[in-house]
Amino acid sequence: MKIKNKKELLQTPKGMRDILPHDLLYWKAVETKAEDIARSYGFKPIRTPHVEKAELFGLTLGETSDIVEKQMYAFKTRGGDALVLRPEGTVPMMRAYFEHGMHTWPQPVMLYYSGSFFRHENPQRGRWREFGQFGVEIMGEESGLSDAYIIHVFALILQELGFKKFTVHVNTLGDKECRGEFRKELVAYYRRKVNSICRDCKRRLKENPLRLLDCKNPMCVEVRADAPQMMSYACLSCRAHFKLVLEFLDDFEIPYKIAPHLVRGLDYYSRTVFEIFADADADTKKEKADDASTETGGEKTEPQKEKEKEKENAAPIALAAGGRYDYLAEVMGDRKVPGVGGALGLDRIVDELKERKIVPFKEKAPAVFLVQIGAQAKRKSLVLFEQLRKSRFGVAQSFSRDNLRTQLDLANKLGAAYALIIGQKEALDGTVIVRDMGSGTQESVYQKKVLDHLKKKMKNS
Ligand code: ATP
Ligand code: MG
Repeated sequence: MKIKNKKELLQTPKGMRDILPHDLLYWKAVETKAEDIARSYGFKPIRTPHVEKAELFGLTLGETSDIVEKQMYAFKTRGGDALVLRPEGTVPMMRAYFEHGMHTWPQPVMLYYSGSFFRHENPQRGRWREFGQFGVEIMGEESGLSDAYIIHVFALILQELGFKKFTVHVNTLGDKECRGEFRKELVAYYRRKVNSICRDCKRRLKENPLRLLDCKNPMCVEVRADAPQMMSYACLSCRAHFKLVLEFLDDFEIPYKIAPHLVRGLDYYSRTVFEIFADADADTKKEKADDASTETGGEKTEPQKEKEKEKENAAPIALAAGGRYDYLAEVMGDRKVPGVGGALGLDRIVDELKERKIVPFKEKAPAVFLVQIGAQAKRKSLVLFEQLRKSRFGVAQSFSRDNLRTQLDLANKLGAAYALIIGQKEALDGTVIVRDMGSGTQESVYQKKVLDHLKKKMKNS
């Protein structure tokens, strides 16, 4: 790639972006909420490298999966190793399970992780080339309870973040035995429709028919409507498993919907698969009404209209997805480890929160703002700053400023309860002016005593 000019050099690579301070508050709040809930439900944190051996994903995701075929960031190291930026989280978890002999740990092994993943996709709404996922996995447990447990944890996270309405789409993919019959029927159906599906799907029909159902091309979505459904082919034990999952979802009062054509893009899934969507109308309806009322006749601009149209036409995007992967371990190593897991898409959750005007964090106003005028005052002020911080006061300052008015304005804007003002005179006589920002009253206190003075004041207020 040749960089044409300086401007281009100063931009992030396509499909990637900087997360700026204000946005990062959303990210951290989402991650903190997710971690808190995962931890209280018994999951332990784990961190694996951003880079893995290329072959690991070819082996597990399927050579004909979209990810392996065209979405991996692959490179050779100077030593000649073929590596990739990790495109997903479950395979590395299972690799770690084997590498660290986690089968000797108490079962099931329950892990959570959070971090960046990389896929060379077409960037669009909710689709980035570097994106954040928060994932949970339960490894070494076959029961449908664990499938529902994972979904329950995600539902709690979304609820507590402030999503009022969302729907879990669930389906079963059957197991090795019953899926064969279904696959045959699926192929027969799509052969009859071969002229109405996209080019990729024509290829999928030969290589990986299950994935026909995952195509997002509108043409293929239409064909899918009448396609055979796995549920009708599920064997007794797969049916029983699925029934159990749904019963637990009922117990947890999770809003779900059976999505008979839902499949996932990766080879390793079996039995339960799910995706979670925020209901578009529920949380945004009120907001739309608000927007309409504030639009006092002003015509919408072209880009605005276009953006709205894009939103209306776009397929709903999943906030989270996952499923059971009972065959994954066998492909990778020498033992069977049933498992189930899923991941929240952090970029999409942050976008949706902002769209719904849900702020998942509180920006706490500082208790004290330090105002200083002159070089000497700044030095005294810095010492005071550290004393206050150590005593756990929320402190703010603006040491690059010198003007009293500007600094008081800033203190006001931040909502500080008190301003501590040190001017040239105070710097010399060792005092500080304590200004109550609410009432505007001021008193002079010795710098040495100001900490106790503030503590008393805060206690009384
Ligand atoms: P989709 O069907 O939307 O492509 P997926 O099936 O590829 O999703 P998973 O691999 O299961 O997604 O990842 C779980 C979640 O991670 C998704 O539900 C989504 O929220 C998020 N996610 C996946 N790919 C991207 C991406 N390129 N950019 C942003 N978020 C993503
Ligand atoms: Mg995808």
